[in-house]
Amino acid sequence: MINIELYRKRLLDLEKQLAEHSDRELEDGRGELIDTPHDSGDASVSDVAVDSHFTEAELDSIILQQVRDALRRIDDGTFGRCLVDGGPIEPRRLEAIPWAAYCLKHQALLEAAGREKTWTL
Ligand SMILES: [Zn+2]
Repeated sequence: MINIELYRKRLLDLEKQLAEHSDRELEDGRGELIDTPHDSGDASVSDVAVDSHFTEAELDSIILQQVRDALRRIDDGTFGRCLVDGGPIEPRRLEAIPWAAYCLKHQALLEAAGREKTWTL
């Protein structure tokens, strides 16, 4: 039996962290865009820095979406169950990835099909 309230708290904490981090990354990215001097030979270096901020923000927003989906499943009463077959997600997997939406078997199948990527922190 999994402790739903414990997972709810962990997911809410994660949601808060990711939302804050994502905002900060986007702000850093915007700041560098504005600060980039147009006549500088460093422009390409700045572009790379901007890109990495946005990529990290994108990654955060993907996980944030999955965390929010997991919170919704807690409300629905389907948290901890695989989205494909409704079977229980392995407790050790949930422990490592509280927003996991698939059991190991179906996660592996989805990854093999290339439709779903796993993001781990
Ligand atoms: Zn499954």
